[in-house]
Amino acid sequence: LQVIEVNLNRLVLEMTQLLTVSISKKAVVRYDLAPELPAITADPSQVQQLVMNLVTNASEAIGDENSGLITVRTGVQTVDEAYAAGLLPTLPLASGSYVTLEVSDTGCGMTPEVRERIFDPFFTTKFTGRGLGLSAMLGILRSHHGSLKVYSEPGHGSVFKLFLPALHREDE
Ligand code: ADP
Ligand code: MG
Repeated sequence: LQVIEVNLNRLVLEMTQLLTVSISKKAVVRYDLAPELPAITADPSQVQQLVMNLVTNASEAIGDENSGLITVRTGVQTVDEAYAAGLLPTLPLASGSYVTLEVSDTGCGMTPEVRERIFDPFFTTKFTGRGLGLSAMLGILRSHHGSLKVYSEPGHGSVFKLFLPALHREDE
């Protein structure tokens, strides 16, 4: 793990610019990046992988109907705020403030049965899928003391909200 001080907004923009050409055929990507986002300490190539996996999955969920929307949102939230908003994270979170990355799509969504298995290695619902993106993502989040929450409704789309510890946690 090559951990350095990372600005998530900058990583998001770098990554999604690389993906824009392939995505623009079927979806509009909207950015809602929080100004003055706190830094995180992270392995930048691993965080790039997170963004890449999420945006790729989002565009694959949209299919070919050419009318999808992908929203990439960053923000900052304390664990208390997240729990007050009803969060039940997939991995337990220590208290403090977190930088959040939310990737939403208007794609096919997931049934509860699929959603239960998405972090299993080699689980895929795609003809050519490898089923490794989200299990790798969970490992990366775990090693960065982060977590995530998945919201999804079949036919309406999905939201993946990731939490990574903010570097300066003055509320502690
Ligand atoms: P792969 O993309 O190779 O199938 P992933 O680990 O990235 O593997 O995803 C596992 C499965 O989770 C996918 O096959 C799909 O069923 C589901 N999934 C992931 N992201 C989304 C999404 N944004 N919308 C709908 N389903 C998704
Ligand atoms: Mg994938």
